[in-house]
Amino acid sequence: MQNTPNIPVTSGQLPKRNSRLMRLLLALDLLVITGFAWYVWIHPKVPMEFNGQRALQDVVTQVEFGPRTPGTAAHAQALEYFQAELAAAGWQSEIVTTTSQGQPVENLRAWRGTEQPVILLGAHYDSRLLADKDDLPANRSQAVPGANDGASGVAVLLELARTLPKQAVAVELAFFDAEDNGHLPGWDWILGSRAYAAALTSQPKAVVVVDMIGDADLKIFMEGNSDPQLSAQLWRTATRLGYETTFVPEIKYHVLDDHIPFLEKGLRAVDLIDLDYAYWHTLQDTPDKVSAISLEKVGKTLLAWIAEYGSCLAAENCTAQ
Ligand SMILES: [Zn+2]
Repeated sequence: MQNTPNIPVTSGQLPKRNSRLMRLLLALDLLVITGFAWYVWIHPKVPMEFNGQRALQDVVTQVEFGPRTPGTAAHAQALEYFQAELAAAGWQSEIVTTTSQGQPVENLRAWRGTEQPVILLGAHYDSRLLADKDDLPANRSQAVPGANDGASGVAVLLELARTLPKQAVAVELAFFDAEDNGHLPGWDWILGSRAYAAALTSQPKAVVVVDMIGDADLKIFMEGNSDPQLSAQLWRTATRLGYETTFVPEIKYHVLDDHIPFLEKGLRAVDLIDLDYAYWHTLQDTPDKVSAISLEKVGKTLLAWIAEYGSCLAAENCTAQ
């Protein structure tokens, strides 16, 4: 300890050095109190931004489990991971086990609150049993890692679950099983979403499916079977956000994907998909081909569109439904 010089103190006056110290302590106190107030009262109300890097990590995690083909440990681990992430973000979820065309199907649905869903967002989480488009014949008997084809769509749904504001219109998240085994003996495409749509008791006003939306060179053309009005809304929102080179307002393909069973039910449904992917159904469909920027563009477009759609429904004369 150091001795301090004995300075005479008059009432109401602190020695200069001590007064400076007091001011510093007071400033520190204020800083701590302000920080605490921000954390407790303001921080929970500021929605987290959709983060492409965090979504990309979801892709990496899924691929690390291994191909999510039916009946495998990776398939089960993926479901467990989705449910844990959803719960951490405040969503309830349930696995719906059924069979579709003789094959086992485990769909996962997630929701928040008690309202019926206005919007249903879906992605398939399974990966294809065989990499039958691989250049190397030896690889064609192995399952696809499914980084872009499967994991990218799920990653966008998980990051939306984390970032969708609580006051948004009611959204249901659908994680479809068994989308990707078409043209393989005993299988067909979209078995999971067929079962999901058949069991659906609600009437969402809009269904949006995301599939293969993580490509670094992302170009999402309008899909020919999708609802044109809903497509136009989504592409308008993307353009408003400056993503007009990613969302190309022209139809290029007609795709059999998870939106079809919902269209067949008479619901408005859109498929957001970029089919021009060189690694499609090959062993090269790995996370290094997936871009955080692409995931973020799709996620931010959906977040903005959900907000616009909700505002429109709340207003009179909304033509967006
Ligand atoms: Zn596929």
